[in-house]
Amino acid sequence: MHLYLHVPFCQRRCSYCDFSIAVRQRIPVGEYVNAVLTELRSADPGPAARGGDLATIYFGGGTPSLLPPDAITSLLREVLRSADPGPAARGERIEVTLEANPEDVTPEHARAWRAAGINRVSLGAQSFDDTVLQWMHRSHGAARIGAAMHALRGAGIEDISLDLIFALPEELQRDWERDLDMALALRPTHLSLYGLTVEPRTPLDRWISRGATHPPDEERYAEEYLIAHRRLTTEGYEFYEVSNASLPGFRSRHNSAYWSGRPYVGLGPAAHSFDGTTRRWNLRAWEAYRRAIAEGCSAVESKEVLTDEQKEMEAIYLGLRTVEGVPFAAVSPRRPSPPPGLDHGERRQA
Ligand code: SF4
Repeated sequence: MHLYLHVPFCQRRCSYCDFSIAVRQRIPVGEYVNAVLTELRSADPGPAARGGDLATIYFGGGTPSLLPPDAITSLLREVLRSADPGPAARGERIEVTLEANPEDVTPEHARAWRAAGINRVSLGAQSFDDTVLQWMHRSHGAARIGAAMHALRGAGIEDISLDLIFALPEELQRDWERDLDMALALRPTHLSLYGLTVEPRTPLDRWISRGATHPPDEERYAEEYLIAHRRLTTEGYEFYEVSNASLPGFRSRHNSAYWSGRPYVGLGPAAHSFDGTTRRWNLRAWEAYRRAIAEGCSAVESKEVLTDEQKEMEAIYLGLRTVEGVPFAAVSPRRPSPPPGLDHGERRQA
């Protein structure tokens, strides 16, 4: 069982972001924790949320690091209490990830997260250039990234992923190779690299509409991706998924579950759950989610039941994002044979 908790709060909206977030200067901590725990205890997420072997827990957002550490401790304690103790009893490590913004990572917070059970942190670094970070509306400066990693390691959290965004508009004159050098000098265990995309109704979309900036160009996108691929591979990282690279033994087990079609349960606004056949998702807006739970109603907005063909298509497009690819034998025999002339290895991955 893989569990995702969506923490929707951010202190401002980044220029490119269209995620389901609630911008708040004061986080309604008590209401959030109560709502999520009520959802956990209800029948809505299905029995898997309250039983089943718990392999990974992921606090995503939004900005989960805005929650005070004692709220994270309460959530984790309740989640672990509700789950089958199987993996822990067998001495297996449950991967517990917290997404964090660098400015929230202090030595005190890092120690409290570690004590609560967090053993992996995904840091939203994005760039090591202060001008770029301001353009993105990020609330941290470049110097905070190294300080955050130092604090996490000091607290005993060694498994640290850095997010970086590439293919920025040319006029920013972002030095992508310098950013990669800065990131690699910190030796994270994992890197997630995302090309900038322009989502409707974001500040970036509006800037482009009025000609204040340019959309990212495809040549730059390809060039910077390939630079990163070469650079990280040389440094011992493996691109195990198209946007994700890790040192050996440090793949994200949680995200790997999504790419391999395994069941998961999502709690919180906009969270998705999947049992292998049915996918359902919660109300997107925090207020609507909070109200539904407070009124004793279901937080589920809608669901879809996948046909066999849809399952097969998902297995193919998700599998093709990963280094494992898709075994040809897993593809329906209705599909054409692989083209002649491929050797055995290429046929296996076709
Ligand atoms: S911190 Fe993350 S979730 Fe929040 S606005 Fe920025 S990109 Fe979006």
